[in-house]
Amino acid sequence: MSAAPAVTVRVPAKVNAQLAVGGLRPDGFHDLANVFLAVGLYDEVTAAPADELTLTVSGPDAAQVPLDRGNLAARAAEALAARHGVEPDVRLHIAKDIPVAGGMAGGSADAAGALLACDALWGTGASRAELLGICAELGSDVPFSLVGGAALGRGRGERLTPLDVGGTFHWVFAVADGGLSTPAVYRECDRLREVSGGGATTADVPDPEPSAALLDALAAGDTDALAAALTAGGSSNDLQAAAVSLRPSLADTLAAGTGAGALAAVVSGSGPTCAFLARDAASADALATALTASGTCRSARPATAPAAGATILPAERGVTAH
Ligand code: ATP
Repeated sequence: MSAAPAVTVRVPAKVNAQLAVGGLRPDGFHDLANVFLAVGLYDEVTAAPADELTLTVSGPDAAQVPLDRGNLAARAAEALAARHGVEPDVRLHIAKDIPVAGGMAGGSADAAGALLACDALWGTGASRAELLGICAELGSDVPFSLVGGAALGRGRGERLTPLDVGGTFHWVFAVADGGLSTPAVYRECDRLREVSGGGATTADVPDPEPSAALLDALAAGDTDALAAALTAGGSSNDLQAAAVSLRPSLADTLAAGTGAGALAAVVSGSGPTCAFLARDAASADALATALTASGTCRSARPATAPAAGATILPAERGVTAH
């Protein structure tokens, strides 16, 4: 009997060039204007034939990743199998390089990767639209992990419009020890809005809108204009104050990056990863070295954006699941 060969998919992390957060809706969610940029830090998800669904994870943060059916990659495999009336029999392996609970959509990346890998392994032949539909059911950031590049996300972030990017941007990501819970950061954002006296509901908070200056900077590939747009009004990330409130040491990380020459410093999504814009590859390398030496983060990693979305690797490149 010849088993189907394993399929490996490479999936990027994301940074939010802008995260505008509307008021708390009655259903507990917030409307967003979410400018996603896929960045060149990757997880690899391998799907191999098996008699039942199993999951393993490798990498420095592997111990923090759930191995049960709560793992988004396993849920993605089950969702695809259920739609196509097949058993979710697959051996999934995640080679994890994206920080866990770091505000870089690592779990979402694994879900998109598992979906694409299982579709190829099982020959389910799902259309792009079907895959995107399953992604949206799995989580707000999952559709973007599939498509990559740059996109504006509306609604909870899952309604995507692709964005033009006119060049390559050089970033450094300062990875913290320990993650932050995304729901806890949203709750803190609501709390800060309430204590400031402005209120936190959709009646109190203006509808979130993308920044025209930021979209223009991306389209032009203009690093200086992007730096200005990232820091206009303090930060383009409405969750930044909440993340810093829950993890005050992030203020030191942001200051260390700015002091070491970053053109802009923002918290990535719900944090605690901090993202720094650099002028070019050499500046990014120097900034990463300075940030690591500052002792304000666990590690600092240069990466470029935009990066491609979930991509099936050539068979000879694919790793064997273990
Ligand atoms: P986002 O930026 O989308 O808010 P994040 O990058 O902050 O997400 P994730 O790395 O996606 O956070 O992890 C959030 C939580 O999701 C983890 O604490 C973990 O319990 C759970 N989780 C489920 N599946 C995975 C997965 N495949 N990888 C990492 N975490 C996962």
